Amino acid sequence: YQPGAPGVSGAARFWPGARVGVALPMPFPGPLDYLVPEGMALACGDFVSVELGRRQVVGVVWGPGAGDVAAERLKPVAARLDTPPLRAGLRRFIDRAAEYTMTPLGMMLRLATRVPDLGQPPRMRVLLRPTGARPDRMTPARARVLDAAAEHGGAGLAPVELARLAGVSAGVVKGLEAAGCLAPHAVPADPPFPPLFGQPPGGHLSQAQAEAAGLLREAVAAGGFSATLLRGVTGSGKTEVYLEAAAECIARGRQALVLLPEVALTPGFLARVEARFGARPAEWHHGVTGTERRRVWNAAASGEARLVVGARSALFLPFEDLGLIVIDEEHEASFKQEDVVLYHARDMAVLRASVEGGAVVLASATPSLESWANAEAGKYRRIELPDRFGRAVLPAIETVDLRSEAPGRDRWITARLAEATQGRIAAGEQALFFLNRRGYAPLTLCRACGHRFGCPHCDAWMVAHRFRAELMCHQCGHTAPLPSACPGCGRDDRLAACGPGVERLAEEAAELFPGARIEVLSSDLIAGPEAVKARLAAIAAGEADIVIGTQMVAKGHNFPLLTLVGVIDADMGLLGGDLRAAERTFQMLHQVAGRAGRAERPGRALIQTASPDHPVMRAIVSGDAEAFWRGQAELRNLSGMPPYGRLAGVIVSGEDEARVAETARALGRAAPLIERAGAELYGPAPAPIARVRGRVRMRLLIKAPKGLPLQEAIRGWLAAVKVPAAVRVVVDIDPQSF
Ligand code: ADP
Ligand code: ZN
Repeated sequence: YQPGAPGVSGAARFWPGARVGVALPMPFPGPLDYLVPEGMALACGDFVSVELGRRQVVGVVWGPGAGDVAAERLKPVAARLDTPPLRAGLRRFIDRAAEYTMTPLGMMLRLATRVPDLGQPPRMRVLLRPTGARPDRMTPARARVLDAAAEHGGAGLAPVELARLAGVSAGVVKGLEAAGCLAPHAVPADPPFPPLFGQPPGGHLSQAQAEAAGLLREAVAAGGFSATLLRGVTGSGKTEVYLEAAAECIARGRQALVLLPEVALTPGFLARVEARFGARPAEWHHGVTGTERRRVWNAAASGEARLVVGARSALFLPFEDLGLIVIDEEHEASFKQEDVVLYHARDMAVLRASVEGGAVVLASATPSLESWANAEAGKYRRIELPDRFGRAVLPAIETVDLRSEAPGRDRWITARLAEATQGRIAAGEQALFFLNRRGYAPLTLCRACGHRFGCPHCDAWMVAHRFRAELMCHQCGHTAPLPSACPGCGRDDRLAACGPGVERLAEEAAELFPGARIEVLSSDLIAGPEAVKARLAAIAAGEADIVIGTQMVAKGHNFPLLTLVGVIDADMGLLGGDLRAAERTFQMLHQVAGRAGRAERPGRALIQTASPDHPVMRAIVSGDAEAFWRGQAELRNLSGMPPYGRLAGVIVSGEDEARVAETARALGRAAPLIERAGAELYGPAPAPIARVRGRVRMRLLIKAPKGLPLQEAIRGWLAAVKVPAAVRVVVDIDPQSF
């Protein structure tokens, strides 16, 4: 199977007796061969049902058969399904995405076909319309039904609805249908997506915004592939600007897709789209289920859904004509899918747009070094929004040196932060304490014997959650009751919580600010996205004086009364030696600090750190992001690290430690194969998280110069090593931590 082979994208037709390759949404590396039976003609992209073992499965005709199995052993295609074919553009994207990420084709296809009732004709429902005929025997009940039917004539009414309106039983309606007075007609069961109205552009935009929007509109209007980095400080109106590009795209009859890091938590965004376009867009994320999922999938395929707002998986929707993809907060780590199929939504968006001939807009206040470097290199156009919109100004940012101003043992709120907070509360404003750690304390230990509570399945400490009265592993979710005595020495008086979590910080805040309304926002304290939305709305309405939160609060929310941000421990993310740590910390601090002073009142941010001279802290305080990127770029360039070199991780995992280690070592011994291709191999070493859910994980890292065909080299190398069935080897192209 050759990815991108000519047959794949052509409109080849296959006649009875021909072999076709059918891609199935399962972990096969390529399509499987089937025969076209008598009386059937197939084309690439057709949905078909085929037999696999004893099962009937739905697949997609991918191209001519590979011909490596004798014809008499092939099974015929069982049926061609009455569903619109998977378009060539999407098939090409799936092929290239599978190739790039080294994922089996079938697993990639599965991302595009994960929808209920795939291959079934669209569901219809029956409506009744009056025919004008009168029944032989008219009764008052029948008359009421016919009146109701006449009144709501046009499109017709569902039988139950008609019965309800007329206040009669279903039998009366049936009788009228049998008598020929009401005629059934079928309409699609899914309600249509309302059209979107884009008002004329520009009127409400500031001059800088209007210029940026103009450039984006041009890129969309040009019709071909383009990539733009939209860099704008928090509150500069990036959203306003890229929605103009979406309006242009829709006006040109093409579809637009906006990807957000946490769609399920962004009701404010959907409301803004509705205000701008007069209707809600289609949504696609894990909270969209069942019939709604199929409705959106179909509407994307038919072109009826003009604007889709979604999570990264929306990249695999079968758009009829995708003209624009926006990745908002493009630097967010959550755009990398780390589970089952490993891909980065930003890179896949660029790939899809290049295949479809569309524009990509990457929006961020703090772009990833990858995108920054692409803009520097001239591969992406760069558009800047340097100022906040209107009268809002960026917060004044200062560091609080924890070496000289530490608040004392088991205390995390410094005097300076406390004082500033008092002032905000007195002024009727809000403060946010940011601590990216759920629970009460990250570690519980026994001060008598030194016992530490670890997860039995993972290489992780159990985090104490007082509110839920349990210890919890944040890797696998394993829980245990809060201990009352040490299992090591039996003493019950020396157990100690170490370090802060948001719950513990809330305790401290309650002592320091008696009477203040304190709200803790942490995913495990709030049940589900609906509850989160409600809490966010309440905070925005002023129903809290102090908000204590994890990264959940850092993103995109506007709290007009919030004028002070305190970062409790800015150094947390810098530990651990990850080369990307500085970049990530910079992004997070900028974003969190950006929560302050988004409206009329100016904001202030206090960054508590033990290393105020670190380049990250200096860049945050000075606001000179450009200098920070330049410095980071230089470091990466010197070490040949991304984005100036390429990396791939190879994770070897399994429950049997000895076998995992043996496989990893065998891969290490085969190093010459990969070195011959011009790459370097490091490891094996324990993976960043060495044990998860009882599986041992080891990692090898491959570092290669930019032009090298990395995937090909890896393929040749992996093929030389035998992997036992109980061991899994997964390639992670462009790993996020290194
Ligand atoms: P960003 O995405 O860059 O953080 P937003 O697009 O969310 O910025 O804008 C920040 C705030 O300013 C929002 O409340 C938004 O409604 C407001 N805003 C931005 N531009 C305009 C504009 N042209 N007219 C009215 N309000 C605007
Ligand atoms: Zn665990």
